[in-house]
Amino acid sequence: MDLARFPRIRLGHLPTPLEPLDNLTRLLGGPRLWIKRDDCTGLSTGGNKTRKLEYLMAEAQAQQADVVITQGATQSNHARQTAAAAAKLGMHCHILLEDRTGYTEPEYTDNGNVLLDRLHGATVERRAGGSNMQAEMEAVAAKLSREGRRPYVIPGGGSNPVGALGYVNAALELLNQSVEMGLRIDVLVHGTGSAGTQAGLVAGLQAMNSAIRLLGIGVRAPRDKQEGMVYDLACRTWALLGLRGELPRAAVEANCDYVGSGYGLPTPGMTEAVALLARTEGILLDPVYSGKAMAGLIDLVRKGQLTPDQNIVFLHTGGSAALFGYPGALGLQTP
Ligand SMILES: *Cc1c(COP(=O)(O)O)cnc(C)c1O
Repeated sequence: MDLARFPRIRLGHLPTPLEPLDNLTRLLGGPRLWIKRDDCTGLSTGGNKTRKLEYLMAEAQAQQADVVITQGATQSNHARQTAAAAAKLGMHCHILLEDRTGYTEPEYTDNGNVLLDRLHGATVERRAGGSNMQAEMEAVAAKLSREGRRPYVIPGGGSNPVGALGYVNAALELLNQSVEMGLRIDVLVHGTGSAGTQAGLVAGLQAMNSAIRLLGIGVRAPRDKQEGMVYDLACRTWALLGLRGELPRAAVEANCDYVGSGYGLPTPGMTEAVALLARTEGILLDPVYSGKAMAGLIDLVRKGQLTPDQNIVFLHTGGSAALFGYPGALGLQTP
């Protein structure tokens, strides 16, 4: 596999640390827990989209784009990191935010990630929940083209084969760290949404013949749909990399039992996980992704499905800026 032939702009502080979670390990009394700190990628409070943007923004620059267009939910971490990357590279960023929750509190609609989008100089437009966001972006791109601009459209979550290369790279980085530290990793757990993170990891781990079990914890779709999305994108990423043979379908595993009533809607498990990590490890999770992913990990440890002889790595995909968009979801309101 020859990842170096794909254009890349360095945006992240890489490699991110791989650290033990000693307090949480002791508290849960199960497997040895570790955390891969992709919340520390450095770009505007960090997160997993930074790695994807290293490849996406390189493609945008290669096409001489002067404006990037992207979309996400109101409290999108992807939109915020795209706005920051565009600012750093001297490009304009236009964001379409979809109302996927119906929340109207000003913290949700204008604080957290939305505040940072604007602080980075992005222009923001809203769309109703259920809009065809890809079509909406293409309409904006066509309009900007007519005005003489050069738009580059980044799909939601940065999840296409080019963006997924960022997580192919992350898989190689993690395998190198495991060698350096002499750490046998049994399971890698992370939140999976628009699928690019898991697709890139699947492709990277399979390309390296790794025996690590990769477990995505879904935050949006039911299992069949989520696994189908990940597998489809992983296969397209595999093809982009020019790898031979077929990616085994069994390499894609998503557990979607922790979504609750829907994307971006709080669950008791999420609230517990966010507070637990904040109070035992001093680590900030988020209400939409890493909080639900950690809720899944904690529950699987408690059920004995992840066992004491295992080393489990939780990939922290970031998102703490969204905490400020969900003040009511954290169980901290004064009466
Ligand atoms: C986008 C995001 C994810 C999910 O990654 P996908 O590549 O969209 O599956 C997980 N955690 C956080 C904090 C995110 O912002």
